[in-house]
Amino acid sequence: MAHLAHLTESIGPRVSGAAGEQAAIAYIRDQFAASGYSVEVLEFDFEGDRFQSATVRSGTTTIEALTLAGSKGGTASGRAVYVGLADAAGIAGRSLDGAIAIADRGSLLFADKYENVRAANAAGLIIINNQEGMFSGTLRKPAHFPVVGVADTAAANLKAAAASGAMVSIETPTVIDTPSANVLARPAAGDACQVLVGGHHDTVAATPGANDNGSGTATVLELARALAADGLDEGLCFATFGAEESGLHGSSALVQRLRTEGALPRYMVNLDVVGIGAGVAVIGSPEPVARAIKLASSLGIPALATELPSNYGSDHQSFRDAGVAVVFFTSGEFPTIHSPRDVLRDIDPAEVERIGDLAYATIRDLLAQVAQP
Ligand SMILES: [Zn+2]
Repeated sequence: MAHLAHLTESIGPRVSGAAGEQAAIAYIRDQFAASGYSVEVLEFDFEGDRFQSATVRSGTTTIEALTLAGSKGGTASGRAVYVGLADAAGIAGRSLDGAIAIADRGSLLFADKYENVRAANAAGLIIINNQEGMFSGTLRKPAHFPVVGVADTAAANLKAAAASGAMVSIETPTVIDTPSANVLARPAAGDACQVLVGGHHDTVAATPGANDNGSGTATVLELARALAADGLDEGLCFATFGAEESGLHGSSALVQRLRTEGALPRYMVNLDVVGIGAGVAVIGSPEPVARAIKLASSLGIPALATELPSNYGSDHQSFRDAGVAVVFFTSGEFPTIHSPRDVLRDIDPAEVERIGDLAYATIRDLLAQVAQP
């Protein structure tokens, strides 16, 4: 819970490539090192098709923004013009020559808002959320100028700027690739991992990410500490992954990396969303899942072998696709994930403990398996 409080309250959102992720990586690295592991921060880039940080400047105010997938990189500035929903009624036949269009989210696809203001010769588009917090979205194809989304709280400032015809500017990254990193902890540098325990450390924007996945990150750190208490186990490694939320990029990069070293693990244990619920959902390859379910019943922990809903994913899939036997522990309850309401006070320490205990027992069991000749 102390790890979780640090990740969610002291650091906050941990969007890949942003300062929050870097702070989380530094914390995770230090925690693994304090438990006695040899730690590497393995950087990688991924094509940042969403959640790229951008900035809007309006007068003396700096507003946090996110690029929409397909946005052009670089800077655009011009007078602010409010265009409502960026539909025909909002644009009202005006020429937006070189202007930055300020539009409300809603009714139309982002792509249609973009096409409408582009047809009126705008030089940039800022879309204001019609719900609480930040958002991200896609234009579905490359745009000719920067297009960003901002939180609802920016509405008053931007509409006032438009009312007075003030200049605003959009600054977006010029580089398409977003930097992120995995943290890998091994008993000693270069050791082959037989059992790898991990969970993603990144979040989507504008959420403290307590359940998704501060809970899993904290559990990975605590498992690493607890398992090291009687000495480091040969072949037992721990990792946290970046850029899960943008498409499992971190776990894919680590699979690539370990494969290059010629040493994929035999088992991968994934922890994602382990903070709210009354039992454990166990997902993955039949053999380790069956082992975990058996251990759960001997420990009196309610657990169910199940499958992820088809529109959800997590990092065990990158390993499974590479032929590694995987077991994924989750609470299976995610009412608030990807929203500002995914907060520390809703996390149930008893649920984290149940899943942590079952993961601990399973890891010991898998280590005994790999130790057999
Ligand atoms: Zn997650």
